[in-house]
Amino acid sequence: MSLSPYVVGNWKMNGVRATLAEARAIDRAVARLTGVEVGLAPPFTLIAALREAVTAIGVGGQDCHVAAKGAHTGDVSAAMLADAGADFVIVGHSERRADHGESDALVRAKAEAALAAGLSVIVCVGETEAQRDSGEAEAVVSRQLDASLPSGEAAGEVGEVKLAERLAVAYEPVWAIGTGRVPSVADVEAMHAALRQRLVAAYGEGGSDVRVLYGGSVNPSNAAELLSTPGVGGALVGGASLSAESFMGIVAAA
Ligand code: PGA
Repeated sequence: MSLSPYVVGNWKMNGVRATLAEARAIDRAVARLTGVEVGLAPPFTLIAALREAVTAIGVGGQDCHVAAKGAHTGDVSAAMLADAGADFVIVGHSERRADHGESDALVRAKAEAALAAGLSVIVCVGETEAQRDSGEAEAVVSRQLDASLPSGEAAGEVGEVKLAERLAVAYEPVWAIGTGRVPSVADVEAMHAALRQRLVAAYGEGGSDVRVLYGGSVNPSNAAELLSTPGVGGALVGGASLSAESFMGIVAAA
């Protein structure tokens, strides 16, 4: 089984109701395409409205709590995301790992909670610039992935829905996010090969179909090269996903 390339926009803490016009334009353009899967993860406040506004693209959250409900002021559970109309959730983004001290174990628990709530999950990993400079990037990111992935039991097939339709991984070098800098194609290819090995070690044959996205300063000019790099199954896009024109430039390259 080989799934279509998956291109996901992460709006981060950007976007108000007016920004939904961009999402509608993206949705209309995606509806005319085949062979690519597209999702947008707006802030929590826009999830329900985005769900109403689109039909051809997936809707996602940018984080979830591990518990289904309870006394956790300011948090949102995976079940609530699903209730608001979300299809997927991003967990373990480096901004959450850094800003909220999220550990690999917490990221794994969030991924498992999301899967249990019926969402699909994108698990993010990536090295810092210092880790890249000291030659540890592959070892660090492989360890991060091993400890952040949901268990095979949690991520396994549900009815007809395969592991690879429930789980994706995003490799996002921290130093490439929002900086305009991207790794070399050779470095992206090597990292994606290392992550594929970890996925097969974790899940067996099913791990070979899980899409590994690249994220970090993807834009319409570099998307074709990044997306055609062996092992890259799509892109996680921050800044360039806020405008329909730039995001569709990336989707078109997929
Ligand atoms: P960027 O962000 O595309 O703005 O670099 C990517 C991400 O953090 O997902």
